[in-house]
Amino acid sequence: MIIDGKQIAQQLKEELRGQVAVLTGKYGRKPCLDVIIVGQNPASMSYVKSKIKATEYCGFDGELIQLPEATSQEELLRVIAERNGKDDVDGILVQLPLPKHIDEQTVIEAIAPGKDVDGFHPSNVAGLWLNQPAIVPCTPLGIIALLEQTHVDLGGRHAVIVGRSNIVGKPIAKLLLDKNCTVTIAHSRTKDLAAICRKADILIVAVGRPRMITADMVKQGAIVIDVGINRLEDGRLVGDVDFETVAPIAGAITPVPGGVGPMTITMLMRNTIECYKKRINK
Ligand code: NDP
Repeated sequence: MIIDGKQIAQQLKEELRGQVAVLTGKYGRKPCLDVIIVGQNPASMSYVKSKIKATEYCGFDGELIQLPEATSQEELLRVIAERNGKDDVDGILVQLPLPKHIDEQTVIEAIAPGKDVDGFHPSNVAGLWLNQPAIVPCTPLGIIALLEQTHVDLGGRHAVIVGRSNIVGKPIAKLLLDKNCTVTIAHSRTKDLAAICRKADILIVAVGRPRMITADMVKQGAIVIDVGINRLEDGRLVGDVDFETVAPIAGAITPVPGGVGPMTITMLMRNTIECYKKRINK
């Protein structure tokens, strides 16, 4: 089974668009997401373009704020503070990575937690781990939505996550714990990665190394979620999983492109609507 993230994301986006129309009618304004990009990193530009397209599709308001590469940290913080103070802005997204002279953590912490649609602010991270209301990062939310599409009962399953980043590996581990999975997190210092991966009923790979997970590392029937996005020299996009050889073994697998990526963007739309609803209800 190939898990068609593109199609699932499209269905969800349609539902969200319907919700937005109702909410806009009821409250007299649209949800608003402002997206800030510093510099012209081609991959970041392309992600931002897709995010803006999705906001337009869902019927949001919002602004794309493009700042030059040389923008100082102080200036970026000023732009964020201004958006924090605007009553009609529900979400603020600063596209990462930022240029080297800007400290990412300082910038993340400058975004008002209630407008932190990426869910990276320490208040939201703490909320997630303490089971308190929080905005949860988009990629892990998208992965859970994809797993739900397989209709597999996750309880008691062994989930192996390869990668321990703050934006994917760690939060997906928490969400899978909440689904009663037994969770193993592997990383660059893990010994005998292949043996650990072979134990996985659910294998989630978020590393950023093209096709590093090969067929000999996957248990027959496992659900494989490939988060990686890697551009090859010939321009093609591939994941962290060697799709051609792993797909025949896996019980279900996400393709790259067209798997986790579109779901991440849809969950960003969902998070923005959640921020809007909370702000309207205050
Ligand atoms: P990071 O670079 O922050 O983290 C990579 C992780 O992989 C680290 O924990 C690292 O270990 C681990 N790692 C590196 N090499 C190995 C190895 N040989 N064996 C096992 N583990 C290894 O990446 P991100 O989490 O930000 O992103 C991962 C990938 O997912 C990238 O390709 C990125 O583009 C993609 N991505 C896709 C998204 C989507 O929407 N589809 C969203 C976000 C990311 P250590 O901690 O020890 O260094």
